[in-house]
Amino acid sequence: MTDRVLIFDIDDTLLDYEAAERGIWEAIFRDHGLALSEDDFQRNWAISWETWKEAGMMNITDPDVQASYEDRYRQAVLAMMEGVRDYTGIRTSAAELAEQFEVFMSRQFTTFPEVEQVLWDLHRDGYRLFLASNGHQEVQTARMAVFADVIDGILTSELAGIPKPGAAFFRELMEMIQRTAGCAGILPKQCLFIGDSIHSDMIGAHAAGMDTCLVDRKGKYPDLESLPEEERASVRFIVKDLRQLMTIKEL
Ligand SMILES: [Mg+2]
Repeated sequence: MTDRVLIFDIDDTLLDYEAAERGIWEAIFRDHGLALSEDDFQRNWAISWETWKEAGMMNITDPDVQASYEDRYRQAVLAMMEGVRDYTGIRTSAAELAEQFEVFMSRQFTTFPEVEQVLWDLHRDGYRLFLASNGHQEVQTARMAVFADVIDGILTSELAGIPKPGAAFFRELMEMIQRTAGCAGILPKQCLFIGDSIHSDMIGAHAAGMDTCLVDRKGKYPDLESLPEEERASVRFIVKDLRQLMTIKEL
């Protein structure tokens, strides 16, 4: 047994977000009698990033952005749908398309290849596993249903009322962990937060007193020294995939 708690971000840590978004658009287009071409997907992807940026979602460390995260999220999704309506001729309202997006997203759960085996191995080895995501509780719970037997809890920004890296999100997360059977005395320093985002995951978890592990699937950072200087202190380990977690001796 171990007294370590492992907390995983969901999108782009466990789930392949691009594959999910592709699947969502295919489903929406199919629903409107259209076939999604590669060009369509790239166009939607670009619209999505643009509207996300315009809604201020890239400045997630800004407390004002955190306080209005849910409104900004809805605004970004609606603007994205307007953009897609403009060029496809789809006449369904942006609000209805946004609802479809949510429904189809809850059915998209392509994990990276090693994820399932690693989560089961960690569970078998006695680690307690939690998930922490900026997203909607029902959607993320549905997408993680396949891991229901090994996961002890999921906290989303919707449930916490604030996204990562907000301090209140991490307080809520610690409370959720401590309410879980067998985890009552767990302290932040016993927790390792594993995620792909320096800003949402590493900075927030580090500020909350947790250990941190950056999942760098694209190999952008070969070592800690290659991280931007102002962000370096928030990252303790870097792995390229979850299999590499097993090689961390302090795990
Ligand atoms: Mg992520």
